[in-house]
Amino acid sequence: MARIGFVGLGNMGGPMARNLLKAGHDVTGFDLSAGALAAFAAAGGTRAGSAAEATVGAGFVITMLPAGRHVRDAWLGVGGQGGGMAAAAGPEAILIDCSTIDVATAREVAAAAGRPMLDAPVSGGTMGAEGATLTFMVGGPDDAYAAATPILSAMGRSIVHCGGAGAGQAAKACNNMMLAANMIVTAEAFVLAEKLGLTHQALFDVASKSSGQSWALTSYCPVPGPVPASPANRDYKPGFATALMAKDLGLAQDAAATAGAVTPLGVEALALYRRFLEAGNGDVDFSGIIGMLRGMTER
Ligand code: NAD
Repeated sequence: MARIGFVGLGNMGGPMARNLLKAGHDVTGFDLSAGALAAFAAAGGTRAGSAAEATVGAGFVITMLPAGRHVRDAWLGVGGQGGGMAAAAGPEAILIDCSTIDVATAREVAAAAGRPMLDAPVSGGTMGAEGATLTFMVGGPDDAYAAATPILSAMGRSIVHCGGAGAGQAAKACNNMMLAANMIVTAEAFVLAEKLGLTHQALFDVASKSSGQSWALTSYCPVPGPVPASPANRDYKPGFATALMAKDLGLAQDAAATAGAVTPLGVEALALYRRFLEAGNGDVDFSGIIGMLRGMTER
């Protein structure tokens, strides 16, 4: 069993660390939130007094933090001034960042860390984190990926090596841009169906077996009824919150701008999700955007 340092024990990191404990690993954790740290300790984890302390003696060091600036500061020290976790970890330790951050920061931190580092963002949300059914999209060297696979397997069901540093974040940005555009057009189709006098169930029964089929429709249907487990059946309680979708679409647009890729639907999806977010829906599931679309009278 491995000795693992885990920093960032929030909605995702908390259950992920608990699954590592359940698998028999020795996990030392740190979070700025006393509540998150207490919940981790109650589940059998060892508390550290700082992020750097959590790395001591660890074979694997994992972060699950909100955004790129937190990840850069945690690994490289605040303002890149040193004193971060990369310097504190032992020379053999494999560093893994599971946060969703921009591709450029992931590459910068991996290059500056001076040892094998993986970017390994996830999809599957808090339910996937609880149930150890996450998908990991991994960027980084082959040997570090091979060594980390058994650790990631304790937290997820599907683990994909996407390429070198930053490739995991690139895959996540591309995937979520596809998801957002699929969700918006699926919701638009239900609104159009309503205006045409077509029932939700009839559209679902046709499109789920036709070329309009998508995960947004068949697993996450934005109207109540056809898919009982979808957030639409519980007043759009997340699930996957709009604030996180807007964040991920912003990361996709940062990546597109840096890479010189033209993504018109990605631009439009970001604009629509920002509009929904700014109307006070950050905590609403991203499929709830159907309510905004239904109320729109012009573009
Ligand atoms: P969260 O806000 O619940 O957890 C983040 C934790 O990091 C908090 O407990 C916070 O106190 C802690 N933290 C922040 N800075 C710290 C520091 N310097 N040192 C120690 N702890 C620090 O967020 P979350 O929902 O767990 O998301 C984490 C990451 O996972 C994000 O990048 C998010 O985009 C990504 N993600 C989230 C979901 C989801 O459904 N929640 C799904 C996929 C990916």
